[in-house]
Amino acid sequence: MMRPSHYDILFEPVRIGPVTAKNRFYQVPHCNGMGHRAPSGMAGMRRMKAEGGWAVVCTEVCEIHPSADVSPHSEARLWDDADIPALARAADGIHQYGALAGVELGHHGFRAQNRTTREIPMGPSSHAVVSYDPVQSRMMDKDDIRNLLRWQKSAALRAKRAGFDLIYVYAAHGLTTAMQFLSRRYNQRGDEYGGSLENRVRLLRQMIEVTKDAVGDTCAVPVRICVDELLGPGGLCCDGEGREVIEMLADLPDLWDLTVGDYSNDARPSRFGQEGAHEQYVAFVKQVTGRPVVGNGRFTSPDTMLSQVRRGVLDFIGAARPSIADPFLPRKIEEGRMGDIRECIGCNICVAADNTYTPIRCTQNPTMGEEWRRGWHPEQIPAAESEDQVLVVGAGPAGLECAVALGKRGYDVMLAEASEELGGRAAREPRLPGLAMWGRVREYRVEQLHQLPNVQVYLASELTAQDILDTGANRIVFATGSHWRRDGVGRYHRTPITNLDQSGVLTPDDVMDGKDVSGPVIVFDDDHYYMGGVIAEKLRSQGLDVTLVTPAPLVSAWSVNTLEQPKIQRQLLDLGVRVCANEALIAFENGTATLECVFTGKARTEVAQSVVMVTARRQNDAVYEELLARSGEWPEAGITTVERIGDVLAPGTIAAAVFGGHRYARELDSQPWGDEVPFLRENAQLGPWS
Ligand code: ADP
Ligand code: SF4
Repeated sequence: MMRPSHYDILFEPVRIGPVTAKNRFYQVPHCNGMGHRAPSGMAGMRRMKAEGGWAVVCTEVCEIHPSADVSPHSEARLWDDADIPALARAADGIHQYGALAGVELGHHGFRAQNRTTREIPMGPSSHAVVSYDPVQSRMMDKDDIRNLLRWQKSAALRAKRAGFDLIYVYAAHGLTTAMQFLSRRYNQRGDEYGGSLENRVRLLRQMIEVTKDAVGDTCAVPVRICVDELLGPGGLCCDGEGREVIEMLADLPDLWDLTVGDYSNDARPSRFGQEGAHEQYVAFVKQVTGRPVVGNGRFTSPDTMLSQVRRGVLDFIGAARPSIADPFLPRKIEEGRMGDIRECIGCNICVAADNTYTPIRCTQNPTMGEEWRRGWHPEQIPAAESEDQVLVVGAGPAGLECAVALGKRGYDVMLAEASEELGGRAAREPRLPGLAMWGRVREYRVEQLHQLPNVQVYLASELTAQDILDTGANRIVFATGSHWRRDGVGRYHRTPITNLDQSGVLTPDDVMDGKDVSGPVIVFDDDHYYMGGVIAEKLRSQGLDVTLVTPAPLVSAWSVNTLEQPKIQRQLLDLGVRVCANEALIAFENGTATLECVFTGKARTEVAQSVVMVTARRQNDAVYEELLARSGEWPEAGITTVERIGDVLAPGTIAAAVFGGHRYARELDSQPWGDEVPFLRENAQLGPWS
């Protein structure tokens, strides 16, 4: 298959200073939770992007000095020469497939708490650090500025020795010293580095100059910059100082890599932003510079990409998340395999991994982060090693992924689904407010199933244990999911709430099924991910009087990790949902809900006609249990193994269900639960000892 010729423009080479990118697909820097602690994992993941056709593949931010220490986040490091081999592995891996390797050198100013190194944070002025660490930065003096420029130069020289082709100056996300100097909010200096914009730009200009002097003969020097902080004229903005900075520096860098807002706007969750949402802020840049421009915006549609290039908005299609969900996105477009693109759903589970200091994972791409340590490839899977016939019971995210991966291995697969549609929660939940994009979990897999003649799909087939014994399949895998509990058991209550008038109690399943809810309604959220907030939003949009009660201090508290939390809480407050934080529901009877303060235990009451319990879930495992009880009949039926995957094993995220389904398929004919650690590890190197 070949692509339609109008996409050819996306595959033109583009010059970036002294180097040339083979096409317009550019994996912009993104964190991944692996960084310096898991450098081979990081390198394996980057190499996969290069294999997938990206012309430029960058690292995450790379700390240039111990005073830029953002631990426990695990980012790249070039503190000294000892850090070169780890990064060289990434650069070599990227080069293996003809891509250019970029490294995002960065110094984090007062964003660096320096928790490991115990250096005093420093920045343009003295500020409290951005976390709640009880630490304040000191104002950098002229020696500090000279040192910073020297560190940038040394790190650039090391990056060149490591083999990188693009060596960045990083001035975005409010996270870096160069940007903190640019910003009036952070820079209150009275010297030649503060005051006028010309002065505030001085440090960035000097950082670009020292980097170019050091490595510019053979390496390109891109600048990653925030052109609009979304703070109006008080911050950098695209019709104010953001534009003026680009005008002042116009052709000094070899490439402009553009960001908008803070990290939560840059990696905007799909609940709160569409593909290509940055255009209005970045469109001016190409008019004021002759240098190539890259921008991102969760680009997954080849037509949107084409349009951005054709209309002169961007020269390169920048991507972090789309390249995580599908490392082979460029190759698929090149080969005209648009239907095979595994589109990012904008859930930010990938970001949450970094924010929880763990290796990256992705809802759509179960192989993400597993390239090196488990040897998983997103597009290749080993051929079946037996003639086994596999019955997958349930077609939610776990069952769908399992059936697709088994089908690609060449197994004979039966996929039975009780309802009339495929998808399970990946079909139901996308009908809730803001979650439409999450339906891509289902869509991608349904499209793949169409290409697999060895997978038979049976809809409207709610299987009993007897049905399963009768199928003749050798391997049975349950992917029957879970349902929300009605008894209040979750994190706060580990045993059922005793005083509950069940006639007024609903669950998210009831709301998704369209059951009538009468107000005033209390949504008791002891789950703390998205569901509580989404249910409150839905009920409020129906005009009900809604109060969200949570034992946590924040609504949807875990969503802090996915960068969704502040936006969720704002949305609910704007809609008029009342939020009662730090409180738990302890009783609901006779139109009255009793809430208690999680600190003092002091109780109070609220009038309520209904309560929606968003607490914990129960596994749909009745048929599984029955089949286990009938294990004596398995040999005659030809059954050798019975397993569970996804939510029926343990309710969790959609990402975990997809991973579980994929893992089952990969490990079907290996020994999954041996004593060995099931993946490679990089153990810390021992230091000298005396
Ligand atoms: P997961 O996230 O683990 O994939 P879901 O709840 O999304 O779980 O999906 C489970 C799917 O299993 C649902 O679509 C449900 O209709 C289906 N299912 C549950 N029990 C049976 C059964 N006995 N036979 C066939 N399908 C079933
Ligand atoms: Fe996209 Fe979600 Fe995967 Fe991140 S985890 S790349 S947001 S699908």
